Amino acid sequence: MAIIELPDIEDHESFRNELASISRDGRRKWVYARKSSGKLTKYRTYVSNVLLLFLFLAPYIKINGHQFMLFNIIERKFVIFGIPFWTQDFYLALLFMLFLLVTLVVFTSIFGRIWCGWLCPQTIFLEMIFRKIEFAIEGNPKQQIALDNGTWTKEKIVKKTLKHTVFFAISFIIANTFLSYIIGSDQLWQIILDPPQKHIVGLVSITLFSMVFYAVFARFREQACVIVCPYGRYQSALVDADTIAVTYDFKRGEPRRKFTKEDKEAQTRGENISGRGDCIDCHQCVTVCPTGIDIRNGIQLECVNCTACIDACDEVMTKVKKPTGLIRYASHSSITDGKKVHLSTRSKAYGIVWFVLAAVLVTLFINREMLHVLVLRQKGTTFNAVTHNSYANFFQIQLINKYNESKKLNFEIVSPKNGTLKPLSDIKSINGQQEKEGRMMVIFPQSSLSTTGSTEVVFAVYENGKFAHNVKTTFISPHK
Ligand code: SF4
Ligand code: SF4
Repeated sequence: MAIIELPDIEDHESFRNELASISRDGRRKWVYARKSSGKLTKYRTYVSNVLLLFLFLAPYIKINGHQFMLFNIIERKFVIFGIPFWTQDFYLALLFMLFLLVTLVVFTSIFGRIWCGWLCPQTIFLEMIFRKIEFAIEGNPKQQIALDNGTWTKEKIVKKTLKHTVFFAISFIIANTFLSYIIGSDQLWQIILDPPQKHIVGLVSITLFSMVFYAVFARFREQACVIVCPYGRYQSALVDADTIAVTYDFKRGEPRRKFTKEDKEAQTRGENISGRGDCIDCHQCVTVCPTGIDIRNGIQLECVNCTACIDACDEVMTKVKKPTGLIRYASHSSITDGKKVHLSTRSKAYGIVWFVLAAVLVTLFINREMLHVLVLRQKGTTFNAVTHNSYANFFQIQLINKYNESKKLNFEIVSPKNGTLKPLSDIKSINGQQEKEGRMMVIFPQSSLSTTGSTEVVFAVYENGKFAHNVKTTFISPHK
């Protein structure tokens, strides 16, 4: 594995032809990123801590007996912010996913990859947990390079064993956490506490998940963002010159030149140093970058907007007594034209779509059917003659109560007239968050029925004595 080489100043166009962490012959260049520190790193750490706390605690928070967040695809149970969603609400889930996608599009077109730097679990786990552990065990990048290139001494064996054991243990915790979002935390603890032979599939899943997470964070790392993540790929279609992203102010920074003793002396004398920009070509912004790129080359596919280069450059600027912000959140047009940051027409159009979708989603959610009643004629049946001029049909009723409280139910025939409804099982009540099936028999005299043999029947559903809604079905009788 090759060590990443710092780009040559003469060769700073090479980034257009190759990825910073993959050599031309396809071999991986390992990124030994320097530890980042500074104002934005501090804020990112706060945000990450809150998100990590949420991620690890949410499966154990229960609201009205429901896990706060649950995405049980296997049993088709979904709970979002403590609100259960049933299969019948799937259109809402699809719309919600579309809404999230549009949110990402809107935010990317306005703020670039703000998701990647501040919110993405991959960046948070890698930068806030795994890399910090690596620094603690193996030291700074220089020490890491020495350790990796050195022979297998006792120290190297101990450090590598310790690091990978801790990495696997954390991957195991992450895998369990993700699984608790899918199968539920109660079910997960059942698997953990029961004898292993009772949950072979569950244990195999946990082990596989853990191995995948371990492989991603111990080896694959930034390659997930650069090669695998589709979001990184389509960002180039979403950003434009008005997108606010981590940007190098080339107008101020160029021409870059090392900060010499003479520069320092001239600065002390208060003289203006002509013919040079503010960038002192120290490469601190490159050495701190977790994807190994040089942000001075402009916005690039590999940049995850982690802000580490902003902090690194601000520290340098402070040391050389120049204003901070040579690398900052800015749009390309604000740097080239000195214009204030503004929204492009495209971003505004995305914003309108986002608002419309949000309004539709909220309206549909508020008006979603909380008591679902479906009446279907019993499979394999047609009609039964009760007397020589009246007929009976048997119906199956599917009931879903999406309220948390139980409900008393009542059914009445609205049309046609003169029908009789006889429940054949308990359809008079249903518990909160329950799904149940029932049966009923309906009898009509021939005089109320269509001569075609098929009559539309309308039932009124009453919920705790109050009319809820009508349900339609078809009644079968002989052709007359
Ligand atoms: S260029 Fe800067 S913001 Fe982008 S990934 Fe590298 S350090 Fe992070
Ligand atoms: S850290 Fe700042 S001064 Fe140093 S190379 Fe990067 S942009 Fe230039």
